[in-house]
Amino acid sequence: MEEIKLNLPTPIESIHFRGHDFYLKRDDLISRDFSGNKARKLHYYLANDFPHIKRLVSYGSNQSNAMYSMSVLAKLRGWDFEYYTDHISDFLKKNPHGNYAKALENGMKISCHSEFISESKNKEILKQVQYDDGTLFINEGGRDKEASFGLEIMANEIIDWQTEKSIQKLNIFLPSGTGTTALFLQKYLKNNGIKVYTTPCVGDMAYLMKQFSLLEEDISFHPTIINSQKKWHFGKLYKEHYKIWLELQKSIDVVFDLLYDPIGWQVLLENLEKFRGAILYIHQGGLLGNESMLPRYERRFKDNNEDN
Ligand SMILES: *Cc1c(COP(=O)(O)O)cnc(C)c1O
Repeated sequence: MEEIKLNLPTPIESIHFRGHDFYLKRDDLISRDFSGNKARKLHYYLANDFPHIKRLVSYGSNQSNAMYSMSVLAKLRGWDFEYYTDHISDFLKKNPHGNYAKALENGMKISCHSEFISESKNKEILKQVQYDDGTLFINEGGRDKEASFGLEIMANEIIDWQTEKSIQKLNIFLPSGTGTTALFLQKYLKNNGIKVYTTPCVGDMAYLMKQFSLLEEDISFHPTIINSQKKWHFGKLYKEHYKIWLELQKSIDVVFDLLYDPIGWQVLLENLEKFRGAILYIHQGGLLGNESMLPRYERRFKDNNEDN
């Protein structure tokens, strides 16, 4: 079996943006083949052997970073990879690109099934895919207890760095989808007095709290949620997202993802008064997803085209 090496620990850089100092954990540099925090969430499946597993089953959106990373994992392990999504547009079928195209190249078998998308249908999903001993099922976005393995390693990298730099008070900020990354970081950093802040990008605050509870009942381990002043629809194009993404790239020469990070940075900058001490922003990778988002943004806004 081919090996994938994760570049650990990922570096932490000092950055200066819009007149403020931040630290930035470059989890986007974790691996050439895996997507940022998905490598962390799937680390458990890289570090252990699963001789009885023959196929991996998961579900979610047809351009998801998690889907792509699971396709890498399955290819590496010689597993079949079956993925369920609620729709695939004719345009995407005719013009495969981004995570979708790369996952297909890795051998993903994708099928459309509207009910595979809803959380409450998980049990039925397992029945329908004839879940057996040879099947590994991973929840949408890698929201599983097994994700704790890689995120504990990440938390320890942060603790070691904090000790080395003698940083007294440390806050962490990262944008959330399923909230898995934020939750396990908070769980493993709590004893060191590090507070993890996040903002929901996919659903609302209630959705995110529910996701946390699915993974950890004790709410004292839950991250602190800061809501955005504006309501965003996940995956839709917003001029202010594109603007801050371009500004970040120009100002600190780092490329961020276009779905989560523009929300993350806007919410962080709107709420700086809430933080005392140093702020560490987690870059969770996801840049392959930009391949599908960026052309959409450029078509809409590049020439200062206002008709959004
Ligand atoms: C998947 C992803 C997230 C969300 O991670 P969760 O653990 O689901 O909250 C955030 N940013 C990027 C770039 C991602 O790919």
